Amino acid sequence: MTAAAAGRLHFTLEATAENSSARAARFTTQHHEVLTPTFMPVGTHAAVRSQRREDLLESGAQVLLANTYHLLLRPGLDIFQKFGGIHGFMNWPRAVLTDSGGYQIFSLPGSRTLCEEYAEFTSYVDSTLIRLSPERSIEAQKIIGADIMMALDQCVPSTVEHAAARSAMQLTHRWAERSLAARGDSPQALFGIVQGASYADLRIESARTIAQMPFDGYAIGGLAVGESSAQREDCTATVTELLPQQSPRYLMGVGTTRDLLEAVHRGVDMFDCILPTSLAKQGVAFTSLGRRDLRRAAYRGMEGPIDPTCRCYTCKTYSIAYLFHLQRVHETTGWQLLSLHNIHFYLQLMRTMREHILAGTWLPFYRAQRDVLDARDSYGKAARDVTKAVLRERKRKRGRYEVVVKDDVGYIRDTVSGEVMHPGSDPAQEAQSLYVEQSRLLERLEGSSEEPLVVWDVGLGAAANAMAAILAVENVGPAAARPLKLVSFENDLDSLKLALAHPGWFRHLRHAAPQALLRDNRWNSLAPPIEWQLLNGDFAVRKFEALPPDIIFFDPFSFKTDSALWTLNAFRELAQACRDKHTELYTYTYSTSVRAAMLAAGFYVAKGRATGPKGETTVGLSPRAAAAAHGRELLGQEWLAKWRRSDAQVPFGSTDQDDSWREAVLAHPQFRA
Ligand SMILES: [Zn+2]
Repeated sequence: MTAAAAGRLHFTLEATAENSSARAARFTTQHHEVLTPTFMPVGTHAAVRSQRREDLLESGAQVLLANTYHLLLRPGLDIFQKFGGIHGFMNWPRAVLTDSGGYQIFSLPGSRTLCEEYAEFTSYVDSTLIRLSPERSIEAQKIIGADIMMALDQCVPSTVEHAAARSAMQLTHRWAERSLAARGDSPQALFGIVQGASYADLRIESARTIAQMPFDGYAIGGLAVGESSAQREDCTATVTELLPQQSPRYLMGVGTTRDLLEAVHRGVDMFDCILPTSLAKQGVAFTSLGRRDLRRAAYRGMEGPIDPTCRCYTCKTYSIAYLFHLQRVHETTGWQLLSLHNIHFYLQLMRTMREHILAGTWLPFYRAQRDVLDARDSYGKAARDVTKAVLRERKRKRGRYEVVVKDDVGYIRDTVSGEVMHPGSDPAQEAQSLYVEQSRLLERLEGSSEEPLVVWDVGLGAAANAMAAILAVENVGPAAARPLKLVSFENDLDSLKLALAHPGWFRHLRHAAPQALLRDNRWNSLAPPIEWQLLNGDFAVRKFEALPPDIIFFDPFSFKTDSALWTLNAFRELAQACRDKHTELYTYTYSTSVRAAMLAAGFYVAKGRATGPKGETTVGLSPRAAAAAHGRELLGQEWLAKWRRSDAQVPFGSTDQDDSWREAVLAHPQFRA
């Protein structure tokens, strides 16, 4: 343990996990000692939505977050003066952190002007003009009586252009200096904020600059506003490395339970987020079994608590069936009880993380939790509300396909089998998460190799995966040095033609590439260098015409529709094509029989990330790719034991009689201890 009485918080770093940046620490505020990692429930208007103070105390909340911007407008600073600050006003005995108002000024609708001296905005309460300067924000936070104050910053969307991000960052740095001066000798702690949007160079510059100022803690701002989770995680890791060891680090506005786990792993100590309460309002609970979505009809009669391991009031008192019912009849109590559980779950999760860091068992805990924590609910059938919404959808047809529209997003449905492409979530988002992000496509395009990175897109469909890849590369700009060669395979182009006829529902197709591909079987871009080729026909035949793949997006319809693509033989041919390459295959299924086929064909098989209702997907690795693990979680003895007992043991298209596959799975090197 290293002790240091840094700043006003008397921060003590208690432990740092091995092979991770995760840390356990403690510090004192004027009202309460804070043990980290910790989560701060959001009390925007000096109240956590629908929660009583007793419940918050019981949950173990150590710090509440309140918003200066809102409190300035209502109730107004005079009330805080009269009641002895926010602690007296809301009768809260523990710590309070106030944000500076920067985020709200720049994110809420309404007019605002910005100059070097201050930001000016129109009050949403009475339309008066309010001026907030760094000095004025600190003065307000002093009167509110925050234990921890935040310096005023200029927030920009993480997707803004470099020049704009740079100028917002520089203004934030000048305002940070002014905030420190305005704090003076107040005993209240003050945190500086690192900005820089999603640009690594700016984030580094900002972290270095802010870290040199004598703040009591350091926050990472401007994330959770449009970037991907991988971008956010990279940025977090870059920044925390540059921040002082002996001060708390706070990642603002993030996130899901999984986001928290990932950020703690990267060295963050403090979090706030509205998700536990806002998702509770929609009927979603975070549990030790992943997310539970009380809109699913299967919970209608389910006994037992929503989380069998949770000790909160809700879990001790009510069954899932009762909570389902409250949600169904839009009873406020339901929202309140679920929020209570979610906040409790978040805080319990932070305490558990802390225990593992202190006990030296962080890494195994982290690995075990990654795929479980935020897994989407797939229990039973989707609720009736969703089905009704589906019935309301407008339909369009071409060949064997039709368009199904939900929430203004189009899906392609095969009318013969009834299967829907990317059924669980927004297809563009799923393509981005499951195929582009997970395959580290952009990372693999770095460097100056002339040799193209070959991506096979098996099952072009409505081009969601191919366009996600193209848009991701174009987003990086012409700097992407290594050429991308994208080869799409499709035996029926009606799905793409149908989607192209409805660009309003398939927004990823608003691009010149898909039309060109249909017309010429090919589309090229010079900067960044991309070549997209269409091989129309049966994959089994046409795959021999393509260069061997580095990455495979394996996204055809399932076995019942596209049987030939999922057999042991098909995977054997694929394995053969990748035998000399570092090839990674990504697919949405986690079917036992498909995994057995991949293993028997010679792939190494790992768990893939969750998507939509699926808690898990699958990654196949060529032996070369398996040697460079990239943190993949290979299926182990546990899966093998499950497979032995499973009804779905036999690969599609194989039989019990010819069971060479059985030997191949059992003897697979990935199961050797
Ligand atoms: Zn609970």
